[in-house]
Amino acid sequence: MNKCSFCGAKENEVKVLVYGLDGYICENCAEQAAKIVREALERKKQDSKLHDLPKPKEIKEYLDQYVIGQDAAKIALSVAVYNHYKRLNHRGETDDVELEKSNIIMVGSTGTGKTLLARTIAKMLLVPFAMVDATVLTEAGYVGEDVESLLARLLQAADGDVKLAEKGIVFIDEIDKIARKGDNPSITRDVSGEGVQQGLLKLLEGSIVNVPPQGGRKHPEQQFIQVDTRNILFICGGAFDGIEKRIAQRLNTHVVGFDASRNAARLDKSNMMQYIAPMDLKSFGLIPEIIGRLPVLTHLEPLDRTALRSILTEPKNSIVKQYIKMFEIDGVKLTFEDEVLDYVVDKAIEFGLGARGLRSLIEVVMMTPMYEVPSTGVKEYVVTLDFARKQVENANMSVLKESSEDK
Ligand code: ADP
Repeated sequence: MNKCSFCGAKENEVKVLVYGLDGYICENCAEQAAKIVREALERKKQDSKLHDLPKPKEIKEYLDQYVIGQDAAKIALSVAVYNHYKRLNHRGETDDVELEKSNIIMVGSTGTGKTLLARTIAKMLLVPFAMVDATVLTEAGYVGEDVESLLARLLQAADGDVKLAEKGIVFIDEIDKIARKGDNPSITRDVSGEGVQQGLLKLLEGSIVNVPPQGGRKHPEQQFIQVDTRNILFICGGAFDGIEKRIAQRLNTHVVGFDASRNAARLDKSNMMQYIAPMDLKSFGLIPEIIGRLPVLTHLEPLDRTALRSILTEPKNSIVKQYIKMFEIDGVKLTFEDEVLDYVVDKAIEFGLGARGLRSLIEVVMMTPMYEVPSTGVKEYVVTLDFARKQVENANMSVLKESSEDK
């Protein structure tokens, strides 16, 4: 009787036996083989992509399409990601110079584009990417997720391929929320941030970590997957509310001597964030070991009126472009009067909502037209200043604020 040449199963034991020139294969082995081929091809594709690296300038140009301003952060990110790829390509080559990775920390007020930068870079990445919020991480033994769970997410992003996950990039948002309590009044967490920092340190330093495959909590019967974090790039982001004051204090106390007043006058007081240094993070409550493992420190600028105005219309998927597209699908040509956009920017500033508020405000303005226009059969719709003003004035502003805070 004919047999599968791979597993030896007899013809009457399998559903399908495919005949070849000199052998047979059953459906189970064929499926297995297809899977192996798919994975091998995927790995080859990945490797060849890694050899055809986008240069730092190309990475930044890509970011420019989606994120307004923030050049310092964009450049730092582009260089870090490019170097990350380079290191991956040169790993294993016999060379006495070992390329060490440079994890990054981005500091900037909320709503200035940290998460947007991370998401955008993830879209163009050639390696798996995972994003986690540091606020869900807790020390082992507390309610919440173990630090290792962020590697579980990276593994998921790599479809369970450990080797691939070990080349990945992890974005840890709100790293400031695990700052050590003490002289920092904004921290209300009841679980010591320092324990979480110690946990994170293990990952940042590079070690073999036991990862629970499903994420969440570790429990004793679980099978662990071992992940080596040495080549994983970590990017951290945080608002570090109130850090400007610490920067100002440091600069004032450090600027001494007869040149002091001249130096102080040269400081741009409206944007102290640009002078941020590692010691400010330390005084905010990050432990020095963590700071040492995040050698690239970059900042995001506060968004001014011009930046907010550009955010409405310029990015490739700007809010305005999204609405125009949505109406276009219904065959309606949507336009906004320029004054409407200026008004929305003014209101976002007035309510202290920043970029996050732009979307909420436009949503308030567009709710009625989105509801009514599809039934009217009109081919064109113009949003006027009068109309926009009325919609915003009638809206419940507390709701508006809350909805923008959720995002
Ligand atoms: P952060 O992470 O710094 O708190 P986000 O990246 O979540 O801020 O920004 C919130 C929203 O504001 C984004 O979804 C985006 O629409 C908009 N936004 C913020 N900064 C920018 C920017 N520099 N360019 C374009 N859009 C931005």
